[in-house]
Amino acid sequence: MHKGISRLIALLAITTAVVGCSTNPVTGKSQLNLISPAQEVAIGEKQYGPSKQSQGGEYQVDPGLSRYVDSVGQKLAKLSDRPDLPYEFVVLNNDVPNAWALPGGKIAFNRGLLVHLEDEAQLAAVLGHEIVHAAASHSAQQMSQQQLLGIGTTLAAAATRQSQYGGLIQQGLGLGSAAFQARYGRGQELEADAYGMEYMVAAGYDPQGAVELQQTFVKLSKGRQSNFLQNLFASHPPSQERVDANRKRAATMPKGKRNKAAFERAMGQLRKDAPAYELHQKAIAAANKKQFDQSLKLTEQAIRKQPKEAMFWDTKGKLLQHQKQNRDALKAFSRSIDINPNYFSPYLGRGLVYKALNQHDKSKLDFETSVAMLPTQLGTFHLGEYEVQAGNKRKAYAYYQSAARGGGKLGQLAQKRMQQLNPQPQQQRQYR
Ligand SMILES: [Zn+2]
Repeated sequence: MHKGISRLIALLAITTAVVGCSTNPVTGKSQLNLISPAQEVAIGEKQYGPSKQSQGGEYQVDPGLSRYVDSVGQKLAKLSDRPDLPYEFVVLNNDVPNAWALPGGKIAFNRGLLVHLEDEAQLAAVLGHEIVHAAASHSAQQMSQQQLLGIGTTLAAAATRQSQYGGLIQQGLGLGSAAFQARYGRGQELEADAYGMEYMVAAGYDPQGAVELQQTFVKLSKGRQSNFLQNLFASHPPSQERVDANRKRAATMPKGKRNKAAFERAMGQLRKDAPAYELHQKAIAAANKKQFDQSLKLTEQAIRKQPKEAMFWDTKGKLLQHQKQNRDALKAFSRSIDINPNYFSPYLGRGLVYKALNQHDKSKLDFETSVAMLPTQLGTFHLGEYEVQAGNKRKAYAYYQSAARGGGKLGQLAQKRMQQLNPQPQQQRQYR
């Protein structure tokens, strides 16, 4: 027998002994589990916070919308093959039409996807699909445990990678490029569609909603917005094959409710705010083209339409900080934090402004608050600087280590600082 193969079999035997083979609770097929159900839940819990943060944080202008999505999700989850998972459904403040499921049942829905839906049956189709990904352990099957544990780190690094030291404008604008990327296989997508439809029908919804949902996805992926949508289609590639499969399945299922009125009632605020979010998207596009004055003008227009959107104030703060208008930037970031104290980004921005204004205690505190929510490269680097000044070499080293993982110029600078702190981090040890 080939040595490599026998080693692999031995390794698999050990892993199987530890975790074991089991029957997939959704499909009934037998599968090899590299991760136990308890580990799955633990991994999901651990990644939930940073995953939400890196994707815009929770949508807070209308908390009733999240409660509505959660109530529909919980109804479906109870009818799923793993009703015991600690399910949670949340709406994220993100323009990209996307939804994702973490192992263990934490499921997020971007407001950018909600606006493309027409009724509760279509919403149930997305939720049912994501519940299957979680319940059938799809991401746990796709990835090794090491990869799963690394999701948060990768997200933080990718969300904050930037070209220039101290540049805030590059990192927060255009958020959404670092989506939770569980790349499911074609078989898993079809499986999630099929069993997701079973769940929605069990809850009394019209399975036609799942057909229309796939049609919407196919249309969006062909449309002009496709660059903007690459995230969604990387993790759940739409296809005519999936539309056809859903249509065939729906024809064999009972018709059910659509709940269009309830859906539109829940969506009222978000529909009303569509022009404000559109202005904000234009502002970001302008900033990406380095048209900062235009970007600021558009951001202020968005704020006038919806002054309760903390993200608009955060963008305003970043643009003002970029133009070195520190006093006004400070006000904008503080306003953002007053409206929504649970999002890392304005603390990071305000930390930089306080630093520029030599208010170092306040700066450090803001960086710490921000990094506790999402350990960004920018935040950890500056905390490293503060800990060096305070003489806390070990703390500083750990912060720089985190910053170095983000790569780029700031990552290289963090590496250099680590070497200065500890010229021989790995002493040459000889094996005897
Ligand atoms: Zn999927």
